[in-house]
This record gives sequence, C-alpha cells and structure tokens, in this order.
Amino acid sequence: MKSIVDGVLKFQKHTFPGLSGLFKELATAQNPSALFITCSDSRVVPELLTQQDPGDIFVIRNAGNIVPSYSSAPGGVTATVEYAVAVLGVSDIVVCGHSDCGAMTAISSCKCLDHLPAVAGWLRHADSAKAVNAARIHASPAARLSSMVRENVIAQLVNIKTHPSVALALEQGSLNLHGWVYDIETGSIVALDGASNQFVSLAEFPQTVATPAKRSVLAA
Ligand SMILES: [Zn+2]
Repeated sequence: MKSIVDGVLKFQKHTFPGLSGLFKELATAQNPSALFITCSDSRVVPELLTQQDPGDIFVIRNAGNIVPSYSSAPGGVTATVEYAVAVLGVSDIVVCGHSDCGAMTAISSCKCLDHLPAVAGWLRHADSAKAVNAARIHASPAARLSSMVRENVIAQLVNIKTHPSVALALEQGSLNLHGWVYDIETGSIVALDGASNQFVSLAEFPQTVATPAKRSVLAA
C-alpha cells in the first residue's frame, strides 16, 4: 500500500501541476467519446494502451470483461452502459478481452469454481461463448484459451445489443461497436471485423468495426 500512497503524493506534486488546466476544465463536465469495457486484470490498463487522457474514455472493468444481457434487475454494468450511451452519448463502445485472462482460463479449462460461487455465477454470462468454444477442436490448451477469449468478446457484443439504449443508438446510426483482444506480451491488438466475423490486426486495419453494416429498413 505504501507505493500506492507514495504514488498519490508524487501525482499531486509532479503530475497534477502540469495538467491543472485540463483538470480545471474537467472539474464540472465530462465528454468522453467512447465506453471502454475490459477485464479487471492488473496488466490491462485502458488509458495506457489507448494513450487517452483523463476525460477521454468512460470505463467499465470486471472479471472477464462481461456485459450481462439486459435485465430490469439492478446491475452495475447495465446502469453504466445506459448512462454512457443515453446521457454521455458516446459514439463508440469497445469490448476488450486480453491474453492470459484468468476468467477465460477457468472457463476454457473447465476448472472447478465450486469454491468461488460469485465468480462462477458471474461467468455464466459467457456461457454461449463457452458452448461454442467447447464444441471446437483446438491444437493446444493455449489455442483453446485464445479462442475462448475471442469468442467471449463476440458473446459480450451480442449481449450488449440487448440493452435498449444500445439498440436505439445502433438503429439511429450514432454508435459503433468494437471487439478487441489485447496481447499483454506484445502490446498488439486484434479487432473483430463485423463483415467477415474474423479478428484482424488493428495496426493493419485501424478502421475495423464489429458493428455489421446497418440494415436498410425498406418501406412496406
Ligand atoms: Zn481477464
């Protein structure tokens, strides 16, 4: 804990003064352009890997970068998605999984989670990805995990579309969805291409979006 408190003091003394103008602007308003949903894993730092400043991205983090399907039951993720889309008006949502994810490892290796009932219950929101991944043949445990991480991103993008605020913004063409997987060792990111349903290098294809081409609504 000492290093954390020391970090606060260092921030206040050395970093904050250089950013005081920005924080003055941000003191009473925020206007983030994107909602970034990723894992709680200590090695995944959204602002660092996207090089964004305070005020730039709205963030949800939880075990496994999960977005439960919409429900009227109270839920932190549901409320935060709704606020980001309906109030802040973000134009993009990124669901970002990552390599060596403990939550996805537990699912893909069918580890017993009897001693972690809360985690087990939470990860049920990834059951569709689990079913798809379990039905495939994988060359190795590492390949099975990599596939699980990607399938989970796809599953959570499906889940998020069940949220009314997201469905409406997609219908109105004011929101794009992105599915990423971040590799901790190399810093590289692959992104889901909604047109081909394949993950491609974000560096090579920076325009990649997961949102499928908007369907045209034909008059009857
Ligand atoms: Zn993780």
